[in-house]
Amino acid sequence: MATINIANKMTRVPFNVPPVTGRELEYIGEVINRREFSGNGTFTARCQIWLKERLNAVDAILTHSCTAALEMAAILSELEPGDEVIMPSFTFVSTANAVVLRRAVPVFVDIRPDTLNIDETRIEAAITPRTKAICVVHYAGVCAEMDTIRQIAAKHKLILIEDAAQALLSTYRGTPAGHLGDLACFSFHETKNVTTGEGGALAINNPRFSERAYIIWEKGTNRRAHKLGAVEKYSWVDYGSSFLPSEFMAAILLAQLEQIERITEERRAIWRRYHNGFADLEAAEIVQRPSVPAHCTHNGHLYYLLLRNQKERDRLIQSLGVEEIGAPFHYVPLHSSLAGLRYARTHGDLSVTDNASAGLIRLPLHAGMAASAADRVIDSIHAILKR
Ligand SMILES: *Cc1c(COP(=O)(O)O)cnc(C)c1O
Repeated sequence: MATINIANKMTRVPFNVPPVTGRELEYIGEVINRREFSGNGTFTARCQIWLKERLNAVDAILTHSCTAALEMAAILSELEPGDEVIMPSFTFVSTANAVVLRRAVPVFVDIRPDTLNIDETRIEAAITPRTKAICVVHYAGVCAEMDTIRQIAAKHKLILIEDAAQALLSTYRGTPAGHLGDLACFSFHETKNVTTGEGGALAINNPRFSERAYIIWEKGTNRRAHKLGAVEKYSWVDYGSSFLPSEFMAAILLAQLEQIERITEERRAIWRRYHNGFADLEAAEIVQRPSVPAHCTHNGHLYYLLLRNQKERDRLIQSLGVEEIGAPFHYVPLHSSLAGLRYARTHGDLSVTDNASAGLIRLPLHAGMAASAADRVIDSIHAILKR
């Protein structure tokens, strides 16, 4: 009973609160006034230009989710049944699903213990004659080791896809995440730094994918060529789907992109506060803090701690829950999930993945979060781990 009374006196610290920048309603009003509701309109174009310039991409195409962008990347990669795509198991299901939907096979390799990104030293041994692509995930907005991975992809003529869902505005040796592979997929889901609720984008850095990408995007039609005046009537020219978001989503996204610098900086400030706040626990070898290589900048997407084992981690999540602090785990590894066992295969030992999954806890982090809320999380974790 005592703990419940204490919790009641404290303000809840939610894991995530989506940002609102103030112009969302104004832009939605413009969509309504213009009677331009469906996709590929004015706001979509403005968001696409923003992304293209920011990422220095050949093209950037808005989608209704990162899942959709990953599916587009899988179609563009011309995966045939039985083809293989090398990826980490420590990721969200969509990275693998996109491949499985083409009847191709995700091949999971282990991650690095420091960044929890794919272990670049394990990729080459997993390559077979069926390997078509490598899909990296920039976990927590920290880029994978792209110099090595790009060399491997070039040497073996593999398509390189970035699942950059968490990495908008992160950089690797000064290059933006999303400009490091042939194709890159972003998410604007509610849990990401900027959001339209559900939303995403595909960035194209290799021009050979551009023309077909627009066709796949608009149901396999050459509607874009028609819009640009190149063909008189548009028609069905390839297979595709409806991967477009409506103009309402694009309107909200533009309002958010306009303030992405502020949003990112606010997140990074909380991230740094946590990082300083947990230095002592890392020194005492009670937790491991995130590690950002010197050649990477991160976007404050996520702050996590790695506990020594699942028991300690689960106890911490539960105790924080009692204090109304939202702190979830991250990823049941795909290689041990039901669908992963059925549709994918692993290459080598995945013990780093298993350990990260067992020990990881994500802490509340969002734009507009008060420093005092972060301090409360830091103090609570210290108190709980001392018990
Ligand atoms: C959020 C996320 C996705 C899925 O994004 P949606 O926009 O919800 O489809 C895919 N991959 C990773 C790594 C993610 O974090």
